[in-house]
Amino acid sequence: MTESRLTLDLDALSANYAALRKRAGGVELAPAVKADGYGLGAPVIADRLWAEGARTFYVARLSEGVALRQALSDRDATICVLDGATPGSGDTLEGAKLTPVLNSLPQIEAWNAQARSGRLRAALHVDTGMNRLGLRPEEVKVLVGATDRLKRLDLDLVISHLACADTPSHPLNALQLERFQETTALLPNVRRSLSNSAGLFLDEAYRFDQARPGVSLYGGGPEGVPHPEIRAVATVEAPILQVRVVPRGESVGYGAGWTAPDTTRVAIVAAGYADGVLRSTHPNGQVWFDGARRRLLGRVSMDLIAIEITDCDAARPGAMVELFGRNLPIDDAAAAAGTSAYELLTRIAPRARTVVIGG
Ligand SMILES: *Cc1c(COP(=O)(O)O)cnc(C)c1O
Repeated sequence: MTESRLTLDLDALSANYAALRKRAGGVELAPAVKADGYGLGAPVIADRLWAEGARTFYVARLSEGVALRQALSDRDATICVLDGATPGSGDTLEGAKLTPVLNSLPQIEAWNAQARSGRLRAALHVDTGMNRLGLRPEEVKVLVGATDRLKRLDLDLVISHLACADTPSHPLNALQLERFQETTALLPNVRRSLSNSAGLFLDEAYRFDQARPGVSLYGGGPEGVPHPEIRAVATVEAPILQVRVVPRGESVGYGAGWTAPDTTRVAIVAAGYADGVLRSTHPNGQVWFDGARRRLLGRVSMDLIAIEITDCDAARPGAMVELFGRNLPIDDAAAAAGTSAYELLTRIAPRARTVVIGG
């Protein structure tokens, strides 16, 4: 077989959940499983995290919420949809018992109207400085001033999102914390949630009632570099197809992107764009093979990459090369390609054959 392979380590997922719980000091962890569980498969991820005690999950899109509700149909999970009550989504949200995270005054109106004479569960997103989704603090004042605006809503939770939590010294963290405290004081009986993965590594003041970790559950360090408490969950490997010797002065790959300064042993590996390898892996990309990091040579092709193996005897057709995972931390592989663990995870291509361990 020459398919690339994604090994999903569910025991590592559980270990990361436990590590983050410890960080959270007893507050609820509500995993972010948007983008199909950061590319790893939302149903299998949510199933395992449910077994670990998670009862609330965050998705981005309505369609993701519907799919997760189906996957967890026998369980009473709270599924929060970050896009909120978008136009035309009301009946689907209500039908699948999804909780929209309302992020504008028009969305609040729409969800109130959807409730008709009954009551519907909702969460509220307030913006404290990221300027992405959410009501501005002054809009929250308008909202609480007009009591009928919320009267049909079972408002369970108010959230905000940190723009710079992966940089603990950034002054915007403290500013967002202060705005969140001020704004949520207007909603005294509503539970509060501010932190993503990285927020859990700031101080206790950021914890509130619930945290919403994503990337660190899946193996990404909270500051974009490997963290000793976080284990690799996804390992992506691909097999060597052939080993060849490139004479000095000859080049490798499209665009003759790399020229051999000396006679060089090269392994051609069955991984390319269609397996999630990014073009930006040139010129600094690395893989792990036979106990060491090895350089990528030249540009990635649709289905192939070349790696340097001059001082390595183990390279032979069929031997597996690790693109990132257990031995090459995803944050290091991402940094070498000028990107983030988020992008590497969500780009793992469907062509990879998935093997689940610890299931
Ligand atoms: C994606 C997301 C999270 C999870 O963030 P990580 O950095 O992956 O931990 C939490 N909250 C919101 C609103 C998000 O969009």
